[in-house]
Formats: sequence, structure tokens, C-alpha cells
Amino acid sequence: MLMKVLSALKNLITKKTKDENESKKMAVLIRILCLTLIAFFVVYAIGFVIIGRFSASLGSLLMAFLYLSIFTLSFHVRKMILVWSFIIVTTAWALGLLWLFGPDSSFQIFPPFVIIIFFFSSYKSFTQKVLFSLSTFIVYLGMSYLYGNRPPVYELSAATRHCLRDSCMFIIILCTCIAAHMFSNDSKIMEKKLIEYNKRLKEKANTDPLTGLNNRGMAMEYLQEFIKIADSEPCSLCICDIDHFKNVNDTYGHDIGDQVLKAVAAALISTIGDKGFVARWGGEEFFIAFPGLNGDDAKDLLYSVQSAVRKTVVNTTDQVVKVTLTYGLTEYDKERPLNANIKDADTKLYLGKERGRNTIIY
Ligand code: GH3
Ligand code: MG
Ligand code: MG
Repeated sequence: MLMKVLSALKNLITKKTKDENESKKMAVLIRILCLTLIAFFVVYAIGFVIIGRFSASLGSLLMAFLYLSIFTLSFHVRKMILVWSFIIVTTAWALGLLWLFGPDSSFQIFPPFVIIIFFFSSYKSFTQKVLFSLSTFIVYLGMSYLYGNRPPVYELSAATRHCLRDSCMFIIILCTCIAAHMFSNDSKIMEKKLIEYNKRLKEKANTDPLTGLNNRGMAMEYLQEFIKIADSEPCSLCICDIDHFKNVNDTYGHDIGDQVLKAVAAALISTIGDKGFVARWGGEEFFIAFPGLNGDDAKDLLYSVQSAVRKTVVNTTDQVVKVTLTYGLTEYDKERPLNANIKDADTKLYLGKERGRNTIIY
């Protein structure tokens, strides 16, 4: 039963707003605050009846009614009308407290609360925020000067006055906490989403969609790190290219060509693992950087790559497609610019093509 009531209440609080384009968040916050304050004023009305203050009890019921009206309005009006209604009624409450019960009634705690509600209500400009804060300050200051020194309409006993002050302070602090929690939580979620989104975007921007390898842009980015390593350790670079790949496309079709590219990429990644950096350099060309490996060690690793690629097959309906690669390998010469080293690997690759392909030129 209780669960049913809570779930119905939750549905009511999170129900859509009038304008579908507006964020629901503010309406939901105002609804929660209104319900909290309605409960508060009902308790207050009962309390005043108990101590025999019937007109104060009626005043509390009036406040409960006003917040109930704002709650109802939240389903029918736009966000800013709602926010302004809430701010006006809350300010009226604060000023009513001052007028009826004197300055020792906690009305001073209200300005920060209404300012927070205004700041959170929408993406206001800095000037608007300053203007609102200033006007709030002036209204409260003016009322304080006007009514602060007059005897209050209701003379309460010290104990009742303290009870009134502390309970109002409590409820406004509670409402401030609810508002601050909702918005800080929201921005935390947004921040997390944004970080996740940026990460995915970066991954997408750096990855070749067909093979899942790093793309050329990422390789260039990586090379900036690589040349720092090459300053103190022997390093190597390789550019390799699938032999007669055009024939594969022409004979078996572009889709099979794509599958061959994926299979070769997988063979490169699984053989090289964390010993190097692999990227798709162009159409059917791959780039491998070997940080910390001299040319001889890199060549040994390329032999393993060569044999893994030899074993790689792509099945068509009636045939088995196999490819080979030609590799141009160079040990990184830190005395020369990066481009000259890349060019060197490229020249060796074309030398390998000239010498009949399926070979490693170092
Ligand atoms: P070589 O041994 O001299 O490298 O000859 P090749 O046929 O491999 O080289 P060529 O440059 O003549 O042809 C490369 C082909 O690779 C042409 C192009 O259509 C194909 N290609 C490039 N990117 C892709 C791709 O993403 N998918 C497929 N299926 N083919 C691609
Ligand atoms: Mg080729
Ligand atoms: Mg090529």
C-alpha cells in the first residue's frame, strides 16, 4: 500500500510539463519543494491551533494553499512562470514572518534560498543574476528597515518565537539542500556523460572503422611520443603493404577485400601485441612502430608477423583467399627528422615490391 502511494507520488512529481521542450528538472524540483512546504504548513496550522493562535493557523493554511496552487500550476504553465510564482510566494512568506513575528523570525535566511532557486532556474546571464540578487537584497533590506523596529503584530512567548525561528530555518535549509542536491547531482551526471562521450568521440576519431586499428591521424599523434622514446632507446619503424591487393578485389569482390584487410589487421595485432604500435596507414598499407626495438629485433618480430599473415585465410563460397605483405623496415635514426625516417621505410617497401614482394627489406 505504502509502496503504491509512493510510486503514484513519484509519477505525479515527475509528470511532464506543459512545454515538452523545456527541461522537466525545475518543475520536478518546485513540486518536491511545494510538497515539503505544504506538509510543513499543515503541521504548523495544527500547532497554532493547539496553542490557541487561530488566525496564525489560518495564515499557515493559506500558505499551504498557495504552495498547493503552485504545485498544480506546475503541470500547466511554463517554467519561468512557475519559478517566479514560487519566488514571490516564498518572499511573501519571509516578509509575512517579519511583519507578524518580528525580526527574530529567521526571515534573513530566505534571500540566499530564493537566489539559489533563481540561479538554478535557467541559464540566466551574469547581469540578470546580479540584478536579481541586488533586488532581493534591497527588498529584504527595505522591509527590514520598515518593519524591523516596529513591534510585531503577534507577540509570542520567547519559547514559541524560538520554535518558530528554528523550524523556519530548518525547513529553508532543507529546501536549499534539496535544490542544491538536485542540481549538483545533475551536473555530476552530465559531467560523467560528457567525459564518456568525449572518450568515445576521441576513440572514434582515432580508429579506423573497418579494421579497428589506429588510423593515420592517431599514428601521427603517437609518433610525437615515439620520437621522445627514440631519443634514448633504439627504435624501429615499418610500413607494409598487401601484395596484389587489387587482384583480390577484382577476383573476389570488394567485400572479400574488406574481410582480408580485417584478417590481416587481426594477425598484425595478435602477433605484435604490446611490442609495437599498429595503425592503418592507407588503403591496404599498415604502419608499425617498434619502441625500444632495434632493427634486428624488429625484423625478427616481422618474421613472426609474416608467418602469421601466411596462415591467415579468408573463405569465400568456393575458395580460400590468402595474401602476403611486403615490409619496409628501418631503424629509427634520431639524427634525422621523423619524415625522413618514414620516407626511408617507404622507400624500402617499394624496393621490396620491385624485388618480387612477400619480403622484409631492412
Ligand atoms: P602492390 O602489390 O604493388 O601493392 O599491388 P596492389 O594491387 O596491392 O596495389 P594497388 O595500389 O594497385 O591497389 C591497391 C588496392 O587496394 C586498390 C584499392 O581499391 C584497394 N583498397 C584500398 N582500400 C580498400 C578498402 O578499404 N577495401 C577494399 N576492399 N579495397 C581497398
Ligand atoms: Mg598493395
Ligand atoms: Mg598500396
